[in-house]
Amino acid sequence: MSILQIVKYGNPILTAKAEEIKNLDEYIEELAQNMVQTMYAAPGLGLAAPQVNESKRLMTIDLSVGENSQNLIILINPELISQEGESISEEGCLSVPDINEKVVRPSRIIVRGIDLKGNEKTIEAEGLLARVFCHEIDHINGKLFIDRLSSLKKSLIKKKLKKWIQMGKI
Ligand SMILES: [Zn+2]
Repeated sequence: MSILQIVKYGNPILTAKAEEIKNLDEYIEELAQNMVQTMYAAPGLGLAAPQVNESKRLMTIDLSVGENSQNLIILINPELISQEGESISEEGCLSVPDINEKVVRPSRIIVRGIDLKGNEKTIEAEGLLARVFCHEIDHINGKLFIDRLSSLKKSLIKKKLKKWIQMGKI
């Protein structure tokens, strides 16, 4: 297993819609395990494949960040099938360093996808878990959390990020 490099803001893979996974082969298995290790090392609560430069609909989540292996979720081709309520809380992203902003997300969701064995999974989530699912599903659709902010806030942050890129900070 290896720790992968996390792609940062400015890389076009982060704004592209990721491809559906059609074959659950060894490559996907290894990618998923490497993503888990990368997520734990970062550390982060979730990771989507485009963040490790793979345009694939695959994500990993573990709210315990490796403390409790039962919390680990690896989901392939995830789909948000229902959502309700509204919750506002601060979010950050491993691909958008040093930016934390309040983002509106649904408070409860149902997600469907498949696991590494090819079994269909339907997961109900609320609160922080729902938030992380929405954040990672956004990633595989080419969307970042800053895209969910007001256009004024978004343009200010983009300016800041552009400056950081020029300074070599990102
Ligand atoms: Zn993120």
